[in-house]
Amino acid sequence: MGDGVRGLKKLVLVLDFGGTKLAAAAVELRSRTFRARASVPSPPTKSAESDREIVLRLAEEVLGGERPAAVGASFGGPVRREEGTVLLSHHVPDWEGFPLAEWLRERFGAPAVVENDANAAALGEWRYGSGQGTRHFFYVTVSTGIGGGIVIDGELYHGADGLAGEIGHIMVDPDGPSCTCGRRGCLEALASGPAIARRARELLTSCPRPGEGKVLRELVGEDLERISAREVAAAARRGDPLAAEVLREAGEALGFGLAQVITLLNPERISLGGGVIKAGNPLLAPVREAMRRHAFPGSRVEVAVAELGDEAPLWGAAALAEALL
Ligand SMILES: [Zn+2]
Repeated sequence: MGDGVRGLKKLVLVLDFGGTKLAAAAVELRSRTFRARASVPSPPTKSAESDREIVLRLAEEVLGGERPAAVGASFGGPVRREEGTVLLSHHVPDWEGFPLAEWLRERFGAPAVVENDANAAALGEWRYGSGQGTRHFFYVTVSTGIGGGIVIDGELYHGADGLAGEIGHIMVDPDGPSCTCGRRGCLEALASGPAIARRARELLTSCPRPGEGKVLRELVGEDLERISAREVAAAARRGDPLAAEVLREAGEALGFGLAQVITLLNPERISLGGGVIKAGNPLLAPVREAMRRHAFPGSRVEVAVAELGDEAPLWGAAALAEALL
């Protein structure tokens, strides 16, 4: 395609201020592919200012000198949607109260919108991925944390304070392990990646039955600190009963949390995303079973696996930016 033709299409800039990576992409209006995309792992020296500089550099790279017609940004933490202000970053200090949408408007001379990453991913999956064709859609992402987003008739549901969809902090066990939010037994404290790793370590050090956990121990060369949800999943696939038990517990907790969502929202489809979901059946079979057991009967909810991977927040940001035009 020549530059002349390209120049006729409006260009949308989308940004992802994530916990593990920073990313930018340029999308032509109503296109389903990125014209250009660039990302870098989040730097270990965590600073809001340097994150912004890096994202600006990525944006320049993907824009190639063109001006965007609108900007959409996904942010890894709660934001005040109306003003586009960051409330808190889950990953980086000094973001509190930063007027991100206003800053983007000034930088790019274009309208800008900012959305929390789980909500952005939910909208991205609804519009371009596993939620297409539905009217009542719930998305949950299970990785370092657990987040969710509610899409009703193509619109994100935010709630009065922008906190709707926080499935990670549905309480599953009031006496359970402590959570990042300061309470106990939240779903995130039982089924997130770090929670799965912690539970595996706990069982391995509390004298498992003979043979249990052997594969998992071998996978990490006996260094239990190296255990993450990924190793637990790999060990379960190779028949390790201890690893399978850890995933079963996490799956049951997740299914219990989703059952509350089903009872309250009666969604048409629930989509499961995030790295931990890649554990597959040893996790997903208990999820489905617990959902069935604990939800109010009668729901015909479908369960799908997310399709857009870690690009879901960028696609949600694209949908939000398009809506500004
Ligand atoms: Zn919590």
